[in-house]
Amino acid sequence: MLRLERLERAYVQGPRRIEVLKGASASFFPGETVALLGPSGAGKSTLLHIAGLLERPDSGAVLIDGIDCIKLSDKEQTRMRRMEVGFVYQFHHLLPEFSALENAILPQLIAGRGSAEAKTRAKELLGSLGLSERWDHRPAQLSGGEQQRVAIARAVANGPKVLLADEPTGNLDPPTAERVFEELLKLVRQEGVAAVVATHNLDLAARMDRVLRLSDGLLVEEEVAVVKVARR
Ligand code: ADP
Ligand code: MG
Repeated sequence: MLRLERLERAYVQGPRRIEVLKGASASFFPGETVALLGPSGAGKSTLLHIAGLLERPDSGAVLIDGIDCIKLSDKEQTRMRRMEVGFVYQFHHLLPEFSALENAILPQLIAGRGSAEAKTRAKELLGSLGLSERWDHRPAQLSGGEQQRVAIARAVANGPKVLLADEPTGNLDPPTAERVFEELLKLVRQEGVAAVVATHNLDLAARMDRVLRLSDGLLVEEEVAVVKVARR
């Protein structure tokens, strides 16, 4: 479904060259949730941006459904990103002038879906995230947890193969983070998306199907059981 192959990425800052990714590889499967752990600066965001075709690696491949996306033209990459990839950030990045419903409808219209169908889909998603009463609220009228739920609905609205979430609950208080996270997992399993979630929270990581740690530029598989012990 999603395969990252030997990704390398370095940044040059003045005289310094920082090698962030040094050959990171991993595979992600439909309906599976994978935690991406690593200290701040380890390269989690860089990895997610490359996987989401928002940034190009220096070398390596990003395969979505067997298609090597790095080799695609900009136009084809844009299409791929729109149809097959959903992104959730730490801060919701919703459009402030639009309602929750409109925020979940818009990406579908851009992708060419009819407005009635897009509306039905958006309502369904917001409903399953517990937001049926909040459709017509703008982001500023929603709580942090509700904003992130809308961002999640928007990210999966086009039925992507891949959901990439960069510390999606990092900005929420613990009980809210917990609930939003549970709903994210439920939705991912229900939709059959391959989800990669960067987080610092070991409690949350331990509840995902697999845990990968970004360590010295490489992705290392970690036993979920070990993460569970470490969080005590
Ligand atoms: P994380 O998300 O794990 O905190 P990042 O992927 O944001 O890590 O960053 C990894 C490293 O790459 C950091 O040292 C960061 O300073 C550096 N970095 C990230 N983006 C850029 C950039 N656009 N230019 C220069 N350095 C960058
Ligand atoms: Mg980051």
